[in-house]
Parts: sequence; structure tokens; C-alpha cells
Amino acid sequence: MYTVPQLEDYSPAALDKAVHELLAAARQEADAVAGENEWKVFRDRWMARKNGILTQINDLWLKAAPGPAKREVGARVNQLKTQVEEHVSAAQQRSSGATSIARLESERIDITLPGIARELGAEHPVIKTMNEIVSVFRAMGYSIAEGPEIETDYLNFEALNFPPNHPARDTQDTIFIAGQEKKKQRDRLLLRTHTSPVQIRAMLNQPPPIRVVAPGKVHRADTADATHSPIFHQVEGLAVDTNITFCDLKGTLDHAMKSLFGSDVKTRFYPSFFPFTEPSADVQITCFKCGGKGCRLCKMSGWIELLGCGMIDPNVFKSVESNGYDARKISGFAFGMGVERITMLKYGIDDIQLFYQGDVRFLQQFT
Ligand SMILES: [Zn+2]
Repeated sequence: MYTVPQLEDYSPAALDKAVHELLAAARQEADAVAGENEWKVFRDRWMARKNGILTQINDLWLKAAPGPAKREVGARVNQLKTQVEEHVSAAQQRSSGATSIARLESERIDITLPGIARELGAEHPVIKTMNEIVSVFRAMGYSIAEGPEIETDYLNFEALNFPPNHPARDTQDTIFIAGQEKKKQRDRLLLRTHTSPVQIRAMLNQPPPIRVVAPGKVHRADTADATHSPIFHQVEGLAVDTNITFCDLKGTLDHAMKSLFGSDVKTRFYPSFFPFTEPSADVQITCFKCGGKGCRLCKMSGWIELLGCGMIDPNVFKSVESNGYDARKISGFAFGMGVERITMLKYGIDDIQLFYQGDVRFLQQFT
């Protein structure tokens, strides 16, 4: 590395040689500069006021020169300063250029790479069907009522005319909340086995007339298989007013089934039993796959059973009598349907478990 020599010979030839060596060293060091940090080191080595090479030249060459040579030395030192400064600034330009090129290189983005695709979400088929059912009834003037999934024994059973120990309770395998042995039976909490307690809640909230649909999740202690799940969804409906008859019920559900499955379907009402309705009926529609001729879907009968319904049992009104539900003055009907069952029939799905497994390949078919 270049160091500033002491001058002994102040002849022009000797001065030229010393200047030439110094400039060659400056040029070489300037060429070697790569990057901003190296440039700063280079600048300080040559131009620092304290002990930089230019300062050393001033001391070692100019101040030390004998009187007659001072003029000659002074002129060359000034020239040297200008030239060294030029090397320093040229090196700065080159090195900062190199730095920014290096930075551009490191920050380079390959715009030809495929981006991260964010796929569109879609309604789950069960929610989609539930919304379809609800919107059919909303169009008929029904409002939506909701209730909690943890319900009292009273609202889930007793108020709906399932007295304690009534055998009808056995048809709904119930999941009870643990540790409530000390409570009265009517206050014990359970996971609601149907959306029907929302009927009672709605009637307690609002005097007649009332028309509500109650969509929601229900729970039963069923073992999961192709047609059973411990959790499933129902849509419950309730209409109470003066002079509501079974004809209103038939007309309402016939219209709803045509809206959901197409105007070609026919409905029929089959006698059935539910504790909270009297008379009760199962609603069947003509098979929308074969049109009633008979196929595998309808087990060759031409009919598919879809929901339960009936005229509200006067016993049910007793529990809400204080809110204006006097069974001698008003009447009403109720219906309830399983959303999964309807979705499975609509889309030809043969295993209820597919709804809950979250397999995207299954769900994508409904987007
Ligand atoms: Zn059929």
C-alpha cells in the first residue's frame, strides 16, 4: 500500500516521478473501491484533514521543501489535490452506482411468477339450503326467530306437551348437561333436540298473530352414520292467528315445496303423530327425480317424505296463555324439516357425514 515518501531530491524530474507514483497509487486504489463503505475508507485515507495523504504531502513535501524549491513543489501539490479529489468523487459515483445495482439485483421481483390465488368462498350446502327455505317463508310474510342451543327441559319438552316420562321423549335421544341432579327436572339444561322450543320462546315474546320460521342447529345422542349425525339443522315454522285451519297449513306447505323443488311437485299429507300438534301429518312430495313413476331415490314409491307438521295442540297454548294465546279464540299450525335431509335429496348426496368433514373437494361442487 502506498505511503508518502520523504523528498530528498527537489529537482523537477524527481518531483515529477514522485507525483507520478502518487497519482498512480490514487488511481489504482480508486479503481479497487466497491461499495459505499469501501469508498468512505478510501476517501478518509486520502482526504482526512488529520493524517490523510494530502495532509501528509503538505507536511512532508511542501513544508519541508527548501526555500528555492517551494514554488515548484507548491504548484504540483495544488495540482495533486485537484486530481486526487477527482479520483475520490469518480470512485464515489462508481461505487454508489454499484451499490444501487447490487440493491436492485437483490430486490428483484420476478413478475412472471404466478401470484397467490385467493379462492372465492361459498355458502356451505346446508346453510345454502337453510337460507333457501327461510327465504321462501320470508316471502310469505314470516319473520325469523332464533333461540339458544342449550335449552331447558321445560322449553324443549314440557311446554311442547311432552310430559315427564312420556314415551315420546324416547324418540329424541337427548344430550343433557352434566351435574344438574339437584335441579328440578323442568330447569335442567340440555342441548335442544329440535328447534321447536323456539316456538314457545317466540309466543312468549309476541302475542298473536304470529308467523315465524326458526332455523338452527339441533343435537341428539345419535351415532354418526350415513343418515345420522349428532348435530344437524332444522327449520321450524309457526303460524298462529284467528281461524287458522288445516287448509292454511296445506296451502302454505304446498306452496313452499313447489318453491323449493319446482312447480311440478305435488304434495300429500299422511297421518302422523307429534306431541305438540293435533292432528299431525307427514308431508310427502312427488319424487322430483322420477316425477312419481318410481325410482331408487323414492324407493319405487313415487313419493318422498320431507317434513312433519300439524295443528298446534291446545295443550301447547296453555304454556303461553298469559301472552294472549287462548286456545278457544286462536288456532295455528307448526311444521319442521331437517335441512340436511332436504339438501341430500336435492343434490343426490348419499352420506350425511360429507357435510361435516370439511373436505374441500366435496364443498367445491357447490360453489
Ligand atoms: Zn323417484
